[in-house]
Amino acid sequence: MNQVGNLLLLPGDGIGPEVMGEVQRVVGWFRDRQGLGFECETDLVGGSAYDAHGTPLADSTLALAKAADAVVFGAVGGPAYDQLEFRLKPEQGLLKLRKELELFANLRPAMVFPALAEASSLKKELVEGLDILILRELTGGVYFGEPRGIEELPDGTRRAVDTQVYTTAEIRRIASVGFELSRKRQGRVTSVEKANVMHTGVLWRQEVTKLHQEQFPDVKLEHMYADNCAMQLVRRPKQFDVIVTDNLFGDLLSDAAAMLTGSLGMLPSASLGAPDQAGRRKALYEPVHGSAPDIAGQGKANPLAMLLSFAMMLRYSFDLGAEADRVEKAIGAVLDKGYRTADIMQPGMREISTTAMGQAVLDELDASLG
Ligand code: NAD
Repeated sequence: MNQVGNLLLLPGDGIGPEVMGEVQRVVGWFRDRQGLGFECETDLVGGSAYDAHGTPLADSTLALAKAADAVVFGAVGGPAYDQLEFRLKPEQGLLKLRKELELFANLRPAMVFPALAEASSLKKELVEGLDILILRELTGGVYFGEPRGIEELPDGTRRAVDTQVYTTAEIRRIASVGFELSRKRQGRVTSVEKANVMHTGVLWRQEVTKLHQEQFPDVKLEHMYADNCAMQLVRRPKQFDVIVTDNLFGDLLSDAAAMLTGSLGMLPSASLGAPDQAGRRKALYEPVHGSAPDIAGQGKANPLAMLLSFAMMLRYSFDLGAEADRVEKAIGAVLDKGYRTADIMQPGMREISTTAMGQAVLDELDASLG
């Protein structure tokens, strides 16, 4: 058995435990069929942690997260916790994890499996086979810059200020992640800002260009203004490989790109921190969707976003690109065969449950071994 690394599994609330159950089965498959061992620890987060410990993230859980090679996160939240004071809300568990692990790079892939191309709001030929990655800077920029606030003016009206601020170090560290990721993909990076009207955009462009020349000349770099990028994403999305951008533009562009794929139940994500001495980055992998209380406990949840997040973990935390491809191909094959959970159901297809979908993926993984 090849011990690959240790994982902290945080299923969370609502459908979180249901979709995490399918990850555990895939972990078992890699152990039994490929000799790849992941040591897994499971703990509480969000509402379930609040119920047990009176806090959405216990210190002991945070310590496990810091010690793990990767955190795999389900989803948190639910109506039972809506009345809690802000600091105790389930979502605070996730925010605290991101902050404490210093996860500054948010990876949001937009992939369209051929079988689901009809579900996109764009024409099938524009999105079929789409595979792009939006890399968003997550801890800086206008959401955090000082000064910020609303002030009363002498004439009784008010004035609001947010500050967009980026330093050389912040730009270089997110751009490095973009260049590194592109090397595991098609080797192309589009750096997005508004250097035509913003000073942060000018600095962003200069620093990315410099870093590219110094360390990543093998990667093809292109610069694009954010407004043009928004247009290009809906006009010809397949032109992109990795898009690297700031917190605000990344927030908007990643949601726009998500809709190209059609379904929340299919969207994975990852958040990465700085590399440690061994070169390994702190990392958290989670589906984009929430805890879906409306369908929790009914076996209706689509586990594919969670399994695609697990595939991202294989690729980006453990450099197991071939194994990640294997999981993604198995998912594509299951969809090609017409299996669907309710959220992605289409006429003439076969609706199946969460566990049946997980089993179908395992069957395809078996089939992939020949
Ligand atoms: P949601 O993503 O949970 O659900 C939105 C809709 O999509 C629902 O109709 C749901 O049934 C459906 N859906 C979501 N994931 C699905 C899946 N895997 N399979 C099938 N259908 C799926 O968003 P919401 O309803 O706005 O929020 C519900 C709770 O989740 C709230 O408490 C919210 O705060 C929380 N939330 C948590 C996260 C997170 O943990 N990262 C993210 C978003 C929302």
